[in-house]
Amino acid sequence: MSDQVPTLKAQPCPKCGAPAEPQKAGSNRFWVQCSKFGRQGNCSAIGQQGSNKKEAIIEWNKLR
Ligand SMILES: [Zn+2]
Repeated sequence: MSDQVPTLKAQPCPKCGAPAEPQKAGSNRFWVQCSKFGRQGNCSAIGQQGSNKKEAIIEWNKLR
């Protein structure tokens, strides 16, 4: 069986172009935020949370 989705890659931040940074809290809360988010810079780009990394990346890639 090879029904696996190709590995999803988080695109660069849609606001500032900085690399995306996958985040995780507990075992089932994932999201992706800009590597210059908050204290690391002053970008406000953050994706919706998902229950796995793939969902989080999909949400992040929806940001514009
Ligand atoms: Zn950014």
